[in-house]
Amino acid sequence: MKEFLNFINGEYVKSASGKTFDNRNPVDNSVIGKVHEAGRPEVDAAVAAARAALEGDWGRMSVVERCKLLDALAIGINDRFDDFLQAEIADTGKPNHLASHVDIPRGAANFQIFIDTIKSVSTESFNMRTPDGKTALSYGVRVPRGVIAVVCPWNLPLLLMTWKVGPALACGNTVVVKPSEETPATATLLGEVMNAVGMPKGVYNVVHGFGPDSAGEFLTRHPGVNGITFTGETRTGEAIMKAAAEGIRPVSMELGGKNAAVVFADCDFQVAVDTVTRSCFENAGQVCLGTERVYVERPIFDRFVAALKGKAEAMTPGLPFDPATKIGPVISKEHQAKVLGYYKKAAEEGATVVTGGGMPDMPAALKDGCWVQPTIWTGLPETASVITEEIFGPCCHIAPFDSEQEVLAKVNKNRYGLATAIFTQDIGRANRMAQGIHVGLAWINSWFLRDLRTSFGGSKQSGIGREGGVHSLEFYTDLRNVMVKF
Ligand code: NAD
Repeated sequence: MKEFLNFINGEYVKSASGKTFDNRNPVDNSVIGKVHEAGRPEVDAAVAAARAALEGDWGRMSVVERCKLLDALAIGINDRFDDFLQAEIADTGKPNHLASHVDIPRGAANFQIFIDTIKSVSTESFNMRTPDGKTALSYGVRVPRGVIAVVCPWNLPLLLMTWKVGPALACGNTVVVKPSEETPATATLLGEVMNAVGMPKGVYNVVHGFGPDSAGEFLTRHPGVNGITFTGETRTGEAIMKAAAEGIRPVSMELGGKNAAVVFADCDFQVAVDTVTRSCFENAGQVCLGTERVYVERPIFDRFVAALKGKAEAMTPGLPFDPATKIGPVISKEHQAKVLGYYKKAAEEGATVVTGGGMPDMPAALKDGCWVQPTIWTGLPETASVITEEIFGPCCHIAPFDSEQEVLAKVNKNRYGLATAIFTQDIGRANRMAQGIHVGLAWINSWFLRDLRTSFGGSKQSGIGREGGVHSLEFYTDLRNVMVKF
């Protein structure tokens, strides 16, 4: 049985309260570890350690020295690739092909990408004449924001955590990370790499626990925290914004979505089917950028539904390291019940179930796992729950459309605005749609393709702010103006 301790000031520590909670493997729901839940004393200690590091060696380091450590972190993760892979897979149950190609390599790359950004970014400067005939030069300097609370979800645990810790450290901040209670392993393991590369104590801290009345709330309400970066549900984002209001702390929020794919009849049919298969079912649909609403132009509607049905039915569920496995379980029994609840609701609301709609038949050893079938519906009105609410499972509703204006209005009639994917060979229409759909990220004839120098984030209730490339500096630094008269 593994034990996951809090990582505070460079050391692994239990909680003073002695409280622990179970860590489960979603493939069979077995208990695989005990997680030590941080209380107020541990959160206080983590924030104090982060503050001391900021005022100590770390705060005095040059950008070049900091970047050397970030580079060493990326190398350190890759040196222990297999340990990170095993840890992430045990926590999430996701297939090896996904974790080894996306989660761990991107988790490491997030430290390297911001080295280039921070080394090459410039600030403004202006010269002006003063009324007494002298000169005034103003210039900007970017200073670290301070102690950053990093609150993370469970769907891409290492990747989404380092996506925030990377730029935070590159900019000279220190962090206290609160990983999801479902996925404590890789954040904990990263502490070992921090120590191995010689990261000063207190720069990276991890506190385990839940949200309300636990480590998440204690951390986000902590007056010693200077900014909160959060990825997770929109409802949780609201709670965290309320906490951040005390003391006027800035927030960066990457929240929920109800993303649409729009498939025009002139698309490359195979590219559209293959890409929408990934956007709907990859990671068992637990990708914030994933598609849960598909709109297909009427002339190819039936053919598209049949093709996606074939793809969904070929998503073989199974163990992560079985090469035949195409889809893993969802994260927990609680999330399985939520997804299956939506499956039931879709049927009650009158959906035609094209495929799926329940739990797959699994071998006896995996019967208790958190499995759900890839599911496709048609025939629902736009007001149906599974078309308006985020499910975060391997499912989608497919609806036909007849014109660009009609589909644009339908796609935009949603409170979320994270991402979209548009499939057409008409470049003018593709760009009109990309600029007309209210989202932070629009893909044309692709999905999940990212250049990490570009902005990432959501519109409407899908987020506040943008991270990625120079955009991360908006949150992770404070821009100071210096005025010199001479
Ligand atoms: P969640 O909101 O339930 O939990 C996220 C984190 O917040 C966890 O660490 C949790 O313990 C913590 N938390 C919960 N309540 C809190 C509170 N009151 N105060 C402080 N912390 C609290 O989200 P989840 O279920 O882990 O992740 C799935 C959600 O994340 C989906 O809605 C998905 O769309 C979203 N997501 C968004 C992005 C993005 O980039 N926009 C990326 C991944 C996931």
